[in-house]
Amino acid sequence: MTQTLNFPHQPLPDSAENLRADIRAFLAEERRQGSFQPASDSWLACDPEFSRKLGAAGWLGMTWPRKYGGAERSALDRYVVTEELLCAGAPVGAHWASDRQTGPMLLRFGTEEQRQTFMPPMARGECYFALGMSEPDAGSDLAAVRTRAERVDGGWRLNGRKIWSSYAHRAHCMVVLCRTSPRDDNDRHAGLSQLLVEMDSPGLQVRGITNLAGVQHFNEVLFEDLFVPDSRVVGEIGNGWQQVVGELAYERSGPERFLSYYGVLAELVANLAAGPTPDKATLAATGALISQLASLRQMSLSVAARLEAGEMPALEAALVKDLGTRFERLLPEQARLIAGANEISTHQGEFARLLRGAILHAPSATLRGGTNEILRGAIARGLGLR
Ligand SMILES: Cc1cc2nc3c(=O)[nH]c(=O)nc-3n(C[C@H](O)[C@H](O)[C@H](O)COP(=O)(O)OP(=O)(O)OC[C@H]3O[C@@H](n4cnc5c(N)ncnc54)[C@H](O)[C@@H]3O)c2cc1C
Repeated sequence: MTQTLNFPHQPLPDSAENLRADIRAFLAEERRQGSFQPASDSWLACDPEFSRKLGAAGWLGMTWPRKYGGAERSALDRYVVTEELLCAGAPVGAHWASDRQTGPMLLRFGTEEQRQTFMPPMARGECYFALGMSEPDAGSDLAAVRTRAERVDGGWRLNGRKIWSSYAHRAHCMVVLCRTSPRDDNDRHAGLSQLLVEMDSPGLQVRGITNLAGVQHFNEVLFEDLFVPDSRVVGEIGNGWQQVVGELAYERSGPERFLSYYGVLAELVANLAAGPTPDKATLAATGALISQLASLRQMSLSVAARLEAGEMPALEAALVKDLGTRFERLLPEQARLIAGANEISTHQGEFARLLRGAILHAPSATLRGGTNEILRGAIARGLGLR
């Protein structure tokens, strides 16, 4: 069915703006105490102690029901907290997946026992999840997953291999997408299921992979005859594809799709403001970056409000991710050129440090969470163009 794009303007309510002052004060105090150094791509920086502090302050699981450790706040309140954390370059990687998607996924599809067991410690910043979707031959084509679970007494026996699993070596559990019945070429999305696997289970092995920046953030995770009890099946057996697609809508349009290198832009502007009056070309190039950022933020806020209202704006979310991550690829490159034309050091100082981090991480921006080529295909299909 052909759709049109719909981005209604969404101003932030006073409750969300009031919260901004609180989170800024918290972050300023953490900086004063030296608890973190701002980083580019800080949603990939893992610091369990920092996550626990956020949990204690009530800033994890913010939208979840109180009985599962949440605060029953709105998605726009959560949005403000997330954008302030990202702008500050705070290390939010430990709890990122559980707060953003595993918790909401358990709310939709989990059993009461799963929610009671996992969500309160997630909201306290004490329980972290990894996402076990991609495999060596199943990335863009996720339906090609070959990890399989066979029925055994009381549960499932899991065999296979996942790759690119962010922080699987620091996580307590992984949500594994696997095949529970043989592949059917007429319906490739059928026969997939989601299992919750505890990372200390016998039969599980984690192998680290070092990324371009020299950090072990990714992993390969191997399962060999790993037993998963029936109580750890998420939702319905065979419904895994529908469940995963629902998860991805939340993953695509948040502020992490355009704020990962915000610190670079902020430091660039601060350096320009401290120097001689910039020429027109510098002002135009810097202004273009700022106006793109402002437009992306409005689009992303609009999607957040529609998700909050119970709509499923998958097309708009995909567009925010495509445009936002293209901006993330552009920003470090433009900042480097503007710095060069204005004698701002790219070797020393805070700007140089954040720029270095951004240049090393930016190539992954258009890959993680589904590549831009795949998203553009989905957008074109949704608009009736293919
Ligand atoms: C920083 C980072 C963190 C990640 N974390 C996780 C994680 O925690 N858990 C997890 O499961 N995965 C994770 N991933 C994996 C990510 O989801 C995959 O990298 C992504 O889906 C692409 O899959 P692939 O790497 O197999 O590339 P491929 O699918 O092999 O694609 C290679 C290239 O071919 C293009 N291509 C493929 N098919 C088509 C097509 N039909 N039309 C046009 N172009 C096409 C792609 O766009 C891409 O440019 C992470 C990736 C990154 C970079």
